[in-house]
Amino acid sequence: MGGKGSGKPKGCKNKDQSKHWTPEKKRAWSKEYYQKNKQKQAGYCRYYRKTNAEKIRAKHMARKEEIIAHNAEKRRLEKVGVMNHYSNGTMCCVRCGFSDIRALSIDHINGGGTKHRIELGRTGEAFYRWLRMNGYPEGYQVLCHNCQWIKKSENREVRYTEYGSKAIRRIRTSVD
Ligand SMILES: [Zn+2]
Repeated sequence: MGGKGSGKPKGCKNKDQSKHWTPEKKRAWSKEYYQKNKQKQAGYCRYYRKTNAEKIRAKHMARKEEIIAHNAEKRRLEKVGVMNHYSNGTMCCVRCGFSDIRALSIDHINGGGTKHRIELGRTGEAFYRWLRMNGYPEGYQVLCHNCQWIKKSENREVRYTEYGSKAIRRIRTSVD
């Protein structure tokens, strides 16, 4: 407990002490610097892209396959995350237990999925991202495509016309 000295300890006024950067301090400084110089930085980037367009294109083309694979993997991981969450880690259709992720999809439990997706303007990966970024809201489940169509048929969301196999999907506005 001792050391009740009068006045500040010498170290506090020492310049080297004030330069002691903790990771938090560094992050805060970078954040502030970025906010202050955002326009300037963007200008540098724009200028670089403009003056090195060919170089950037060549670099991109050289890595094309890698970039395509990387993006596909990103989409796959996004889907895996969402399916994992809504199936409680089983990654299976809740009705029939089918587990090939290629044919699994997210079902709106109370219907209206197509309408909702249209309103959001998001399908596929963009919809999965929306679910993740909104904290995985309730009201969704994992169904395979077969069970999706069976459910649609049971709920009379699919209409078969007199032309035989041609199915017309109808968004049921009455169910809301
Ligand atoms: Zn199923």
